Amino acid sequence: MRPSLTAAATSAGVLAALLVAAPTATSSNGPEARPTVKDPTAVGRKGAVSTVDPEASAAAIKVLRRGGNAVDAAVAAAATLGVTEPFSAGIGGGGYFVHYDARSGKVRTIDGRETAPRKMPNDAFIDPATGKPYNFTPELVTSGVSVGVPGTLATWERALDKWGTLSLAEALKPATKVAKRGFVVDETFRQQTLDNEERFRAYRASKKLFLPGGDAPKVGSIFRNRELAATYDAIADLGTRAFYRGPLARLMSDIVRDPRTTRNTDLPVPPGYLTPRDLRDYAVRVQRATKSDYRGHEVYGMAPSSSGGTTVGEALNILERYDLSAMTVDQALHHYLEASALAFADRGKYLGDRAFVDVPVRALLDDRFAAERACSLNPTKAATKPVAAGDASSYDGVCGPAAGGGEVDEDTENISTTNLTVADRWGNVVEYTLTIEQTGGSGMVVPGHGFLLNNELTDFSTVYDPADPNRIQPGKRPRSSMSPTIVLKDGKPFVALGSPGGSTIITTVLQMLVNRIDLGMTIQEAIAAPRATQRNSVNVTAEPEFIAAHGAALTALGHTLVPAGDAFTSAAEIGAATAIELGPGKRLTAVAEPSRRGGGSAKVVKR
Ligand code: GLU
Repeated sequence: MRPSLTAAATSAGVLAALLVAAPTATSSNGPEARPTVKDPTAVGRKGAVSTVDPEASAAAIKVLRRGGNAVDAAVAAAATLGVTEPFSAGIGGGGYFVHYDARSGKVRTIDGRETAPRKMPNDAFIDPATGKPYNFTPELVTSGVSVGVPGTLATWERALDKWGTLSLAEALKPATKVAKRGFVVDETFRQQTLDNEERFRAYRASKKLFLPGGDAPKVGSIFRNRELAATYDAIADLGTRAFYRGPLARLMSDIVRDPRTTRNTDLPVPPGYLTPRDLRDYAVRVQRATKSDYRGHEVYGMAPSSSGGTTVGEALNILERYDLSAMTVDQALHHYLEASALAFADRGKYLGDRAFVDVPVRALLDDRFAAERACSLNPTKAATKPVAAGDASSYDGVCGPAAGGGEVDEDTENISTTNLTVADRWGNVVEYTLTIEQTGGSGMVVPGHGFLLNNELTDFSTVYDPADPNRIQPGKRPRSSMSPTIVLKDGKPFVALGSPGGSTIITTVLQMLVNRIDLGMTIQEAIAAPRATQRNSVNVTAEPEFIAAHGAALTALGHTLVPAGDAFTSAAEIGAATAIELGPGKRLTAVAEPSRRGGGSAKVVKR
């Protein structure tokens, strides 16, 4: 895990964002303010959006105001995040798009996950020079070998074709405008650039774009990305073939297979396997959502290749067996942590790309399986971690002999990514999580095109084991944790939410649902509440405020809490969520983080 910001930087980010007076830019429509002010909550009836960024939220609002639907607005916001949050998302990456269609009442999803190139061998993470596995950092993280075939642009195209009203060209317009006129650099952007400085210096194009004049852009300065604007313009003119075929596809393949580092870098940068054919053949998957019933709600999530839907769903099925609302908050949190550990054990054993391995999705979401898993949950004592996985091939919901110890599933997922939520006046809803994996992806900007390539293939298990569902296989999608979630109540959307955060995404989504549904919090409180995450490891990682509030009681129950953060930064945050709650009378409450990652931006259509 590699959170990107210190707590101090985060609050400084809020301040900076609030203090920078919105400068004006001249456009063909006359001067226009650059959106910089961030509101964590907005309430309206004619459309709503929540993202981490005011420019992206403004782009969505513009589309909604002009009559576009939630899908149009979600693509406009995502494309804008490619400009303003280039270290977390963009056309060089992938993601998962969940859509509730008001007319049919159905939830459908698009799996736009990056894939392994077809020539990627299963020993790709072994250094041929030494015969030993590459180190995760820096070799795999800053490499060509971890670059997967990007799926984001194909996701936008498919979503618009299926459910949107705008063309891709129209949906890209607000983002292209922001790329050309520039946006105001905040503390988060500067800090994320500094976090990546060594990697960006290793590539001429990355250095030129993100370290102009040798330094990360200053807080309050205007950052433009004309090369990305030109790339978006080319896509608007020619369609996605401007990306998946022709010169840009050849250029991406060339730099992945032969990373062009600058002479004065020590970074090793192992080459990868991407070919123009991989790009030409990339296909999204339109697929059913996972569904779990939870206390009168229907919770829809992302099926494999993401582990999000099954792991959140299984944990909820376990928790549904207990009346959390009748417990003290500490007891309820104990159940949340224990259910999460059990679900993570099963995630490690069973989850991988369904097109390559047989994932027992139905069993993992079966109430009888949950009943059997709940046998290992002691309401008054934390189990010794790691707990063992269940047997999804044979279960009857009856408690058997206690299982022995489990295995630690090594967690190498990095923290970056971004999440957005949109609802329109007709009741359509989009929950979309997109990423380039690590903050800064592979570190490799495509020369002349203004966007970073992902390093998503680091989400494969790094050591090859033929029994591992997440082992490297050519053409396969690495297992994700992204968990965009739409919850219905009485057949109507109730809340949509999601978050970045690597494997903590799953627990953040789970915790927010428990906060909202069981612990009596409003949706604002459910997002702002301090977080903790138990992913079947010895320790529970928690935000300092969580430890202050619940540490003593949970320690007494046998949990070992350690502050979030790692050796790289003193970051103490988990996730950066967005949500919309849909209330009676078409009331839409859009909610963003009040402070994590510099705070997010919730907006509604006002007239
Ligand atoms: N690569 C991660 C995943 O797909 C997301 C990374 C993150 O959220 O930081 O689950």
